[in-house]
Amino acid sequence: MPAKLINGKVIAERIREDVKKQVSDRLAKGLIAPGLATVIVGNNPASKVYVRMKHKACEEAGILSVGHELSSDTPQEDVEALIKELNNDPKIHGILVQLPLPAGLDEEAVLSTISLKKDVDGFHPINIGRLAQKGRTPLFVPATPSGVMVLLEKSGTLIDGANAVVLGRSNIVGMPVSLLLVDANATVTICHSHTKDIPKIIRQADILIAAVGIPEYVRGDWIKPGATVIDVGVNRVEDETSKRGYRLVGDVNFEEVSAVAGAITPVPGGVGPMTIAMLLSNTLKAARLAGS
Ligand code: NAP
Repeated sequence: MPAKLINGKVIAERIREDVKKQVSDRLAKGLIAPGLATVIVGNNPASKVYVRMKHKACEEAGILSVGHELSSDTPQEDVEALIKELNNDPKIHGILVQLPLPAGLDEEAVLSTISLKKDVDGFHPINIGRLAQKGRTPLFVPATPSGVMVLLEKSGTLIDGANAVVLGRSNIVGMPVSLLLVDANATVTICHSHTKDIPKIIRQADILIAAVGIPEYVRGDWIKPGATVIDVGVNRVEDETSKRGYRLVGDVNFEEVSAVAGAITPVPGGVGPMTIAMLLSNTLKAARLAGS
């Protein structure tokens, strides 16, 4: 039987509607709209596209969003000075520094400058550190990993006691997803570029999270029948039949894997829409934390 499709677009839409309703309830009570500030340093075209999408989503939810674009040669102290200014701005509840930063800037120092209560991307070292410690709760969880957890929950996948395999160990996806799965009582194996016999490890997985950035890397005969597969990958592959000359595929060979898995996310329309929905939700939470 083909796998059940986990429709991230529909689940994300519901979250965005809920945020919009809660923003409007705030306004009705005389509270100010939640405010998100974005900071881009340099000219990375993908960063600009992502940030534009985030602003549009904020606008649709009634969230104020303010963009800051700095040139790629901006000194470290000027980036940090902008963040400190935003930390003190009462109209701004969340600060998002779009990664990656240009070479030469100290990413950890920049992220550490963001006020913990405004760290809606969840990448402040203290928030990430709390995620890694038993019994400690971060104020914010990074958007893509928390979106993955919502998709697992909504698909009815049993996480407690499950064998979960996470492909990839990046700071943005693989590592925080692994920590969240451990926290939810899964037994987690993390695979990376030095891991031996990845297919053998994946065959044990009740849950597979693929985040390697290699088009259609995971094959159908690696999958345990009935497993839940969450494909985080977004990769462009050439396609002459498409108007744009390319199409988007995940890190999983969808055709093969969906014939074996119990449930699977599509690309596009799976994890991608969840990332933005969770960011909006974090921004609303930040406004609540600020008490304004
Ligand atoms: P990344 O920083 O490049 O990390 C890739 C990870 O995969 C690394 O841990 C790397 O191992 C591992 N890896 C690379 N080649 C491998 C191989 N042959 N076998 C096993 N592991 C291998 O990527 P990322 O930022 O985590 O992103 C991963 C994918 O998710 C990308 O396609 C990206 O576009 C997508 N993404 C989607 C969203 C969304 O909202 N949908 C958000 C973020 C990212 P090492 O650590 O050993 O190098």
